[in-house]
Amino acid sequence: MSTKTRKGPKVEERREGQAAGGCVVCGINDARVLSYTRLSDGARVTVCGSHRVAHRRSEQHAGDVAELRKLVGERRAG
Ligand SMILES: [Zn+2]
Repeated sequence: MSTKTRKGPKVEERREGQAAGGCVVCGINDARVLSYTRLSDGARVTVCGSHRVAHRRSEQHAGDVAELRKLVGERRAG
């Protein structure tokens, strides 16, 4: 008996709710903690929950990602 060759089911990768790279500050890429914050020009950037809070607590709005890192980044120099 010959069996017909079956084409396997087409596997398509679905990209649902893809977060772009994770937190822009610390780089964590865990969907459970990822959230977002807004820059002063309204641009949305992905951050983790703690950095979202840190940005909200700082009294300034970062104008870009580099500034956001400065505002919320933990500097433990000396
Ligand atoms: Zn973070």
